[in-house]
Amino acid sequence: MQASHEVAGQVPVVMKFGGSSVADLERMRQVAARVVERARVQPVVVVVSAMGKTTNELVAMARALREPPPTRELDMLLTTGERSSMALLAIAIQALGRPAISLTGSQCGIITDHQHGRARIMEVRPFRILDEVHAGNIVIVGGFQGVSYKREVTTLGRGGSDTTAVALAAALGADCEIYSDVDGVYSADPREVPEAVRLGELDYEAMQALARAGAKVLHAQAVQLAEERGIAIYARHVSPGVRGETVIRRNPAQRAGVDAIASDASITRLALELRPGLSHAALASLSAELGALGLRYLRVDGDGASGLLSRSQRTDAGAARDRFAAITRGLGRSLKAAFAIEDLALVSCIGAGIEERAELPATAITALEEAGVQIRQVFTDTRALAFVVASSERLAAVQALHRRLIGARAHPSG
Ligand code: ASP
Ligand code: MG
Repeated sequence: MQASHEVAGQVPVVMKFGGSSVADLERMRQVAARVVERARVQPVVVVVSAMGKTTNELVAMARALREPPPTRELDMLLTTGERSSMALLAIAIQALGRPAISLTGSQCGIITDHQHGRARIMEVRPFRILDEVHAGNIVIVGGFQGVSYKREVTTLGRGGSDTTAVALAAALGADCEIYSDVDGVYSADPREVPEAVRLGELDYEAMQALARAGAKVLHAQAVQLAEERGIAIYARHVSPGVRGETVIRRNPAQRAGVDAIASDASITRLALELRPGLSHAALASLSAELGALGLRYLRVDGDGASGLLSRSQRTDAGAARDRFAAITRGLGRSLKAAFAIEDLALVSCIGAGIEERAELPATAITALEEAGVQIRQVFTDTRALAFVVASSERLAAVQALHRRLIGARAHPSG
């Protein structure tokens, strides 16, 4: 990506508004007022998501016609959600007497790779944005979308507007503010765990682990990009009356321990068993093919392979399952069995130095046992201790783990 640009001596700010913040015209007007207010002191580039549940509705329509929907056409369809909201927001801002212009990801020079449904940003060429800012416009960018080198419209994966915001902030040398209906990042979803506390500050790695674990706070690629480019992210409530925030930035002084419990309610476990004697070359190509599916906690060895597919984080989950079926068929006589186990959830304890806390797994497992939750699988890495459980036991698991590992502890909150 490009070096930072300064706009007429004044650094712009990137403000991103999620779908619930622009769910209807009234909320759209409130966002417009907030943006106009800010634009009095600083150039503003806004990134906006599709209104309310629009993306889900579009996905459902496509799936009703063909399951799984072709990923190219799905991208074409889903980007219309952000196109509508960006144009409406520009109109709402103009109605307040301020010049504004909406731009698609492609018009903003957001260049991605070719992976429909989960494209990665390769480069940002923000020249058009800079021109419009210089001309005095508030620029409204449709989030979650880009254009590939083959000039195909792509999307960045569910929740990808955050990534658009961070990428633009990096390209413009701007701060990145992410507005939603919560005033920051919590130790668990406050709707599910009433005693959850707001985390005043989180480092990039913990935030990324949270996002990968299914917390719908910030897109994982957004956090990764912020870390690479040293961009601080301010997660705030959309209504100006609510003052709290969580700042996501580098924090070397972090203590070890569990900061948050996150869960992903729609996990499918894909697994295959092999007959002995698969060649090294065949095993290598199996690893590569399965790796390309982007499964969580992928394991491949001579006996077989398994990994977790998140249907909530992937618009192309159906395609990934089909691909898995094709890979297993390709194994011919080496394949002993293949499974796709539905109705699972992943519940993750996230923090720093998880692997060093030797007592943690036993404490967590006891808490789950006492709550009557059956553990299907356990995974650990430096940032997460994760449990696969039945979907029906997800909530009980989250509550039990929060109570035992976080609940009693006083937490710094900013
Ligand atoms: N509208 C897209 C989604 O619902 C992108 C986003 O909201 O960030 O996933
Ligand atoms: Mg979002």
